[in-house]
Amino acid sequence: MLDTPEISQKTLKSPYKNDVLNAMNKQQLTEQSARDQVAGGLKNMRKSISNSIFVAHRRENINERRLREEAEENSMTDVLTGLKNRRYFTGDKKKEDDIGELGQEFAEAIRFNHDLTLLMVDIDYFKIVNDTYGHSVGDEFLQILADAMRKTFRQVDILIRHGGEEFCILLPETDTNNMKELVDRFHKKFEDLQKGSGILDQNKILAAKTISIGATSLKDEKGNPRYGDDKKYEDFLAEADNAMYAAKYYGRNRTVIFGSDEYKEYMTNKQEQN
Ligand code: GH3
Ligand code: MG
Ligand code: MG
Repeated sequence: MLDTPEISQKTLKSPYKNDVLNAMNKQQLTEQSARDQVAGGLKNMRKSISNSIFVAHRRENINERRLREEAEENSMTDVLTGLKNRRYFTGDKKKEDDIGELGQEFAEAIRFNHDLTLLMVDIDYFKIVNDTYGHSVGDEFLQILADAMRKTFRQVDILIRHGGEEFCILLPETDTNNMKELVDRFHKKFEDLQKGSGILDQNKILAAKTISIGATSLKDEKGNPRYGDDKKYEDFLAEADNAMYAAKYYGRNRTVIFGSDEYKEYMTNKQEQN
């Protein structure tokens, strides 16, 4: 043990007096180096505590962010079909600058002079399914239709449950001719999946359900752009919607394309009635 009278007043008053004395005792250190050692130990301890607090905060932030992202993802996904919903597609109307996926794709396609095709899809006489066989059978049809969409269209295509028994499909870089081919396959896929699933036999539904489709593209049949800066994606959506109603009007289970003779005739009739 070193001579205690040599211990300074500073050490004697320190709350770490015993630690300093022990360090001096154990390792035959001078008072100053023992004090330094104790101070170093304390510093390391503080550093490690503050590191742990930092890591805990970071973890909390990551968890919060993950939960927020999950909630946001859920709010834009349709639970029944797993497809993205209307909010995702056309944006949150409460937020002025939220133009949704459609608004973004529309603006980008016009800017780079690319084609873009939009389909509005509606199941024909769907209410009868619910009324005759119950809501859960109706739900099964909606799931089969979503499957037919996933199995027909490409990874880059945007598949949306727009609401009820209405769906939207956005096809980037797709012109009217390519669209026709895809749409024919889509009608057929929906029919095949219904037959394959057994839903028709189980419920004694004689005929498979059909769909009416309205289609519109950014370019006309000759490949010329139809849209300039003044047009909005809402107009594009309205064109597909009107074309879908024209398909209903002309007997359902068909596709009507914006600008076609059927479309024009339907729109003229509609305007005359108003
Ligand atoms: P149309 O050929 O003119 O489209 O006739 P429709 O019977 O399909 O059209 P209508 O608009 O009269 O009926 C749509 C039905 O879709 C009514 C509604 O109960 C049903 N529906 C909407 N959402 C759901 C859903 O999530 N599940 C089920 N089972 N039915 C739904
Ligand atoms: Mg319908
Ligand atoms: Mg409908």
